[in-house]
Amino acid sequence: MRIVFFGPNGSGKGTQAERIKNALQIPHISTGDLLRAAVKAATPLGLKAKEVMAAGQLVSDEMVLGMLEDRLREPDARKGFILDGYPRNLAQCTALEALLARLNQPLDVAIKLDVPDSAILARCELRFKTEHRPDDDPAIVRKRLDIYREQTAPVAEHFEQIGKLRHVDGVGDVDEVSRRIFAALPLQSNTEVAR
Ligand code: AMP
Repeated sequence: MRIVFFGPNGSGKGTQAERIKNALQIPHISTGDLLRAAVKAATPLGLKAKEVMAAGQLVSDEMVLGMLEDRLREPDARKGFILDGYPRNLAQCTALEALLARLNQPLDVAIKLDVPDSAILARCELRFKTEHRPDDDPAIVRKRLDIYREQTAPVAEHFEQIGKLRHVDGVGDVDEVSRRIFAALPLQSNTEVAR
């Protein structure tokens, strides 16, 4: 199963993606996590991305695509993946579709977690206090929500137009949201789920 997972920062996407990963035994590929690992390891890519990320801006399409292609070519991604944080704009969406066509691995479904801005701001504020991620600062979160609306929402519209988008209500208990997500996945049978 090849899944693109949408939702703004703080929508609960990371938590839910981990659950899908465990249930379907497919890797959770988060471009944000890959970039944070590069920053931590101070690789050339990480050094370039650090300031951009801290300001809540998007890292260049070219840098992220190269990093993603390397990850998708790893053997564990052959049986499927949950892509989290990519594509973030229409150029990335076009690049992803071309890359997956080359790899002969078309997407099965795009899941969009719907969470109102007020809930996002509250969750990020809480996380800012405990995890101290600079991009969870409330002013930065607002900027990221604007970028999401301007650049990422059109990507969801694209998946809607080609009939691959499923909306999932992301408000509520974590288990309940997981149930809604599994109900939205085009699973062949229950045997696909290792629960
Ligand atoms: P995330 O953890 O997905 O919220 O990503 C954290 C930050 O990493 C973002 O605010 C961007 O600066 C950068 N980032 C992650 N994914 C992408 C992407 N697909 N394109 C550009 N920048 C990205």
